[in-house]
Amino acid sequence: MSLDKMSRRITFPHAGDYHLAIGHLFRKLGYEVIIAPKTSQRALDLGEKFAPEQACLPFKLTLGNLIEAIEEGANVVAMVGGRTGMCRLAFYSELYKKILTENGFEVEFVPLKLKKEFWLAVKNHLPELKPATFLLALIEMLLKMRGLEAIRSGYLDHHPREASPGACHRLVQQMKVELQEVEGFWEILGFPKKVRREFKKIPLRENPDLITVGYLGEFFMTIDQFGTHRIEEYLGALGVRVVPADGFSDFFIGSFKLLKVFDRFLPTHKHQVHKLAKPFLNLVIGGHAVESIGQSIWFAKNGIDGVIHVYPFGCMPEIVATSILPTVSEAHEIPILSLCFDEQTGEAGIRTRVEAFVDMIRRKKAGY
Ligand code: SF4
Repeated sequence: MSLDKMSRRITFPHAGDYHLAIGHLFRKLGYEVIIAPKTSQRALDLGEKFAPEQACLPFKLTLGNLIEAIEEGANVVAMVGGRTGMCRLAFYSELYKKILTENGFEVEFVPLKLKKEFWLAVKNHLPELKPATFLLALIEMLLKMRGLEAIRSGYLDHHPREASPGACHRLVQQMKVELQEVEGFWEILGFPKKVRREFKKIPLRENPDLITVGYLGEFFMTIDQFGTHRIEEYLGALGVRVVPADGFSDFFIGSFKLLKVFDRFLPTHKHQVHKLAKPFLNLVIGGHAVESIGQSIWFAKNGIDGVIHVYPFGCMPEIVATSILPTVSEAHEIPILSLCFDEQTGEAGIRTRVEAFVDMIRRKKAGY
């Protein structure tokens, strides 16, 4: 049966918990949404099996997600990124198409981006769709992304100081369920405020050893906890407050051309970050290399005690950033730890390095 006669069951790769927002968009538009099973070793194994060996870890993980979702009945794939950009992300959608088609997975592709081609692809599937409904669904998705980012920030801020172990984790689970269920523009708009209110109710203890670490690097690795062995959670358990760099909503909104013009000329955060990076890297080389450098300096200038930089093995932009960050660290007197991940990276090794880094910052702060 052709796809025209079947219902369209759409899926997309995981990136942290952002399926809660992206799923909302497609449900609002009128698709049946298939959420891939949570990223697991099986997804990674599938990705490794079908992806080229040298593909970056995010590609393998997300390819595994797509195959698992297709096994569960998805027949349309929504893809973020593609065709533009300077790193391998530009080839992701073409490569997904090639691999999936060659291996007998029959799917259609929809480009998920703030561009006309997204509207045209969706309109082609859903001819009755009104532009206003489309726009509202997109805005609600972005607002739900902000809601997720409020949950993450609340967790990272409160977890190292929670008086009753597990309280933050329980609240995160509750908030995620509520975020999934919340409907209506005004309710979704007010959700981040509600999250902040709920986190304020969590009893905190004094933590004299509390330190604050900025967390940045390759975008996918910073938001998806599977590939980094849940490093954020571990840092919280060590009594470290984590301040993340950009979330998915910034990445998504940042792809909107008009806003790029604003960023170039107005004192937005992105503009400041790029300006700070200039003395060290005066060239956009793809991925988030410039942001990793500029944001590290921003952290240094804003009282953050150290920076953890994460990236996948073989990621060209972040390898360049990794070679520059020691100079940034020296020039701005901020400790920076770069951690590289691939499918062989062991959790114990990462935890040992993180623990040693945290100890070093504490000693430095205590004046040793
Ligand atoms: S930024 Fe790095 S890991 Fe991410 S898609 Fe580009 S090359 Fe791959």
